[in-house]
Amino acid sequence: MHALIEELTAAGPVVTDGAWGTQLQARGLEVGGSPDAWNLAYPDRVEEVARAYVEAGSQVILTNTFQASRFALARHGLAEKAAEINRTGAEISRRAAAGRARVFGSIGPSGVVLMMGETTPEELQDTFRQQARALAEGGADAIVIETMSDPEEAGLAVAAVKETGLPVVGCMTFDSGEDLDRTSFGTTPEQAAEQLTEAGADCIGSNCGQGIEGFAAICRRLAAATDRPIWVKANAGSPRVVDGRTAWDETPDHFASYAPALVEAGASFLGGCCGTTPEFIQAIRERLST
Ligand SMILES: [Zn+2]
Repeated sequence: MHALIEELTAAGPVVTDGAWGTQLQARGLEVGGSPDAWNLAYPDRVEEVARAYVEAGSQVILTNTFQASRFALARHGLAEKAAEINRTGAEISRRAAAGRARVFGSIGPSGVVLMMGETTPEELQDTFRQQARALAEGGADAIVIETMSDPEEAGLAVAAVKETGLPVVGCMTFDSGEDLDRTSFGTTPEQAAEQLTEAGADCIGSNCGQGIEGFAAICRRLAAATDRPIWVKANAGSPRVVDGRTAWDETPDHFASYAPALVEAGASFLGGCCGTTPEFIQAIRERLST
């Protein structure tokens, strides 16, 4: 196991952070706007979100770089800013953490599909390589590959991060199939765990896709298929659209009531994905410390 992952998990479950997009929207980001571009335009507001998670008790915070690959930024005409946006994102989270939390750089899906011939494995890996290097330059302690549906894309991202020498967490999203235990590419938790372990991920996980009720089963299946620690970040239930904005009905206390069961199912890192807030993180911290 990578020394940093070992050090973090030695004292018990590690609390990570919650959603960033909704927090940035609450600070003025328009729906459809590029959250990542705010690292350059409004670094103070991004730092405020990061600091809110540290103050809520996150021991690990991510970076505002989920959609900051060259491909994803191209949709906003910002492809040439990719390195700067990622480096700055890591610097912002480090400032907010101020030594109180570790910073794990976030890398999300590229938005282009290998299977459709929209890119090549070489080009895709190079895109992730650029993002990972910039996050490392900005001071990230580790990198999380998250919300992945295609195991091949996730594997290329893991391989690209490994070149930096930083620990890497590989996370897939299970949001498909009758039991919500497949990625949209049909990948099962067992297949994901095996492929990501083989690609060299230091930690294997699942984020997004469904509410926390379904995560213990996924967690148990991931844990049974790998010897790596498990990372989980569930959504705050299922979203509803109210007046054109997304609303989440889940409460912090109900969400956090699942934390002990997730630890029992093998989770070493716990946080929240879409719709979760600093209040959710605080509730998890409280639940796990009693
Ligand atoms: Zn999510």
